[in-house]
Amino acid sequence: MKKWNMIIDIEKCEDCNNCFLSCKDEHVENDWLPYSAAQPRHGQRWMNIMRKERGQYPLIDVAYRPTPCMHCDNAPCIKAAKDGAVYKRSDGIVIIDPVKARGQRSIVGACPYGAIWWNEEKEIPQKCTLCAHLLDQGWEKTRCVQACPTGALSIVKMHDNEMAELAKREKLDRLLDDMGTLPRVWYRNLYRFEKCFIAGSVAYEHDGITACAKGALVRLLKDASMLREAVTDSFGDFKFDGLDEDSGRYTLKTWFGEYKEKTVDVDLKLSLNVGVIRLSSQEK
Ligand code: SF4
Ligand code: SF4
Repeated sequence: MKKWNMIIDIEKCEDCNNCFLSCKDEHVENDWLPYSAAQPRHGQRWMNIMRKERGQYPLIDVAYRPTPCMHCDNAPCIKAAKDGAVYKRSDGIVIIDPVKARGQRSIVGACPYGAIWWNEEKEIPQKCTLCAHLLDQGWEKTRCVQACPTGALSIVKMHDNEMAELAKREKLDRLLDDMGTLPRVWYRNLYRFEKCFIAGSVAYEHDGITACAKGALVRLLKDASMLREAVTDSFGDFKFDGLDEDSGRYTLKTWFGEYKEKTVDVDLKLSLNVGVIRLSSQEK
């Protein structure tokens, strides 16, 4: 049977919050029984946009990770619920029954993704339903997907083996994949959130003037083996992205025209701007 999956492209998210607002528009003051009771106006973020800043000025970037319920196939929230208060539909969507779940606050803490919110007034746990009430009526997109202006969000309904092939082909990742929760939400370019970079600028001195070294060759080495190489842009900047945080020592080697090779050692913990690698005229 075909099941729903969501695909989120981190590179395309601009933190406009249209997805969050369209979710509010759909669910605040609206009961969509049997799938959800109305979402409170404040305090719940069924589509929660997390933010991450990497690097140091001026080589810095910010990424945004929209984070809804993952609709896990091996969902801890289902195991934590009593009386079948949380269940999985045959199309993959995980639903918290707003009647059966009343008073079951422990369901909130069972989610490793922080995707469940407690409604103090109604005494129920609540979360994203993947707009199940709309998909049941034949809608092909959830409200958040429909509202996203950049195409960062999409949903696809396909067989699990087809989805696995798509994920492999397009290098899609899942959050906390090693926990075995089997999320149905997939991320493109998750490295922008989970990995780090080494960046810097190369400059040279000529007749007493310091200039950007456009076209300099920079190599990244680890344990004396070359990992990657980059050519600096018009500003003399380079960037090696997708490295593991806290992954130890690296060496940068820089070449530019007739200037002598320069070596910089770094100990990588988080994304790092090594600053300006200056090739002075004395090194000609
Ligand atoms: S993300 Fe959390 S709430 Fe959603 S199915 Fe998985 S465990 Fe349950
Ligand atoms: S609507 Fe799209 S671009 Fe805007 S915050 Fe949501 S996912 Fe990001």
